[in-house]
Amino acid sequence: MSTNKSKLYSIFTSKCPQCREGAFFENKFSFNVLKTTITKTHCPKCNLKYMREPSFFYGAMYVGYGLSVGLAIAIYVISTLFFGLTMRESLVAIAIGLFTLAPWTLRLSRVLWIHLFVSYQKDPNKRVK
Ligand SMILES: [Zn+2]
Repeated sequence: MSTNKSKLYSIFTSKCPQCREGAFFENKFSFNVLKTTITKTHCPKCNLKYMREPSFFYGAMYVGYGLSVGLAIAIYVISTLFFGLTMRESLVAIAIGLFTLAPWTLRLSRVLWIHLFVSYQKDPNKRVK
């Protein structure tokens, strides 16, 4: 049982938003996009149904878009300020960076999306199934 149940810890360790204990994904993080983004249907601890409604995780695309834009800006700033790359070289660095970090952004966007709609419930008797 985890003693640290902060929302940030739950998001970055991909835990259930309601109990913050159960795993959200079937597999641990890997760079295989097809394998790493498989979401469990229910929380193994509190039995929360992760797919809140049909096509629930389509909304995570907007979160993923925001994450990708933020990463692109960060890569651009780092590549120009610290490495002195030109605009064209920075675009190549952004493309490589976004492609490499795609599995991470896909996972994080899904976890962030469900954390927007399901809040933490400390009392196990009041948890939604
Ligand atoms: Zn749970």
